[in-house]
Amino acid sequence: MNTRAALFRTIGAPLSIETIALDPPKPTEVLVRIAAVGLCRTDLHVMRGERRVAMQPMVLGHEAAGVVEATGPAVEGIAPGDHVVLTFIPGCGVCRWCAQGLHHLCAEGPRITQGPQLDGSYRRRDAHGEDVGAFCMIGGFAERTVVDRASVIVIDKDIPLDLAALVACGVPAGVGAARHRANVKAGDSVLVVGCGGDGMNVVQGARLCGATTIIAADIAPYKRELALSFGATHTTDAQGEALTRAVHALTDGVGVNHAFVCIDPATTLLPAFRATQKAGNIVVTAITPDTVKQIDVPPLELFATQKAIMGAVYGFMSPRLQIPALLRLYRAGDLKLRELITRTYALADINQGYADLEAGKNLRGVVVF
Ligand SMILES: [Zn+2]
Ligand SMILES: [Zn+2]
Repeated sequence: MNTRAALFRTIGAPLSIETIALDPPKPTEVLVRIAAVGLCRTDLHVMRGERRVAMQPMVLGHEAAGVVEATGPAVEGIAPGDHVVLTFIPGCGVCRWCAQGLHHLCAEGPRITQGPQLDGSYRRRDAHGEDVGAFCMIGGFAERTVVDRASVIVIDKDIPLDLAALVACGVPAGVGAARHRANVKAGDSVLVVGCGGDGMNVVQGARLCGATTIIAADIAPYKRELALSFGATHTTDAQGEALTRAVHALTDGVGVNHAFVCIDPATTLLPAFRATQKAGNIVVTAITPDTVKQIDVPPLELFATQKAIMGAVYGFMSPRLQIPALLRLYRAGDLKLRELITRTYALADINQGYADLEAGKNLRGVVVF
């Protein structure tokens, strides 16, 4: 069949809206009609060439939800009509990480920037017959996609699909970083640097954990304003050393228990590290451009203060468990999802959506079909 898709062809150029050929699902694969896909900053890093992918053309988009239209003969437990969220790291189910329930660390994860399907072949071709890759083995910026069952999580049908899409990336990344990586406890203090798609969800994750001081740092006034409604107790536009001083002033001079680096770690990690109290946690949820090879933290300071610097992908929990759990929290009224969406776009207007993200206008833009 043919499908409309937004193709990444050239670094620095807008995505190209084209009709491409899409093959039917192989035995372990699923054909999904995409209902909604979020405009995450990670795809923008790829478009700018800051995060390299192995091939072009490629269909980007990795924060997607939709409806199953067909399944391969070896697929069990997924049927046409099912509502699904697609995970941007497949869970192969058999590697040493998946065997421990750590699907977010699946051994296949490093291949998600390569372009082919999980089995190494391609399902998409452009008008010239050239193979088209699928970012994160999803290729969500398209009307339809074919993905391995390892990327598919069936969800309840009462959840609106535009909200379900958010739970494919930004929401678990942020909420999980607070709950499962830092293990924020009731009464703790938290700093969130960068209140975008990840950071705003760290704020609500910290609130869910019972943190009593949640400091939201962002240069955009509307994100600081919004952070208060997501659970922040204080906001600041301070950066660098001024941010460290501002946090110390709010925490009896000792710093927070946990700091979350949710934007540009190259410039924010050290101020966040120094805004964290002794034996505290610094959690990095943001992608750093490939050109940044290292970030300096004074080793004696690390040793003497006994802090932990850690990464968190997908909120450090299997999406197979975390995504349904987050949707239960939403249904119970404990998790904000609708409030995360700033604007929606048609696929044809996806470049405007990314322009709005770059201009700092969007917390989350979503393409709805
Ligand atoms: Zn994302
Ligand atoms: Zn695996």
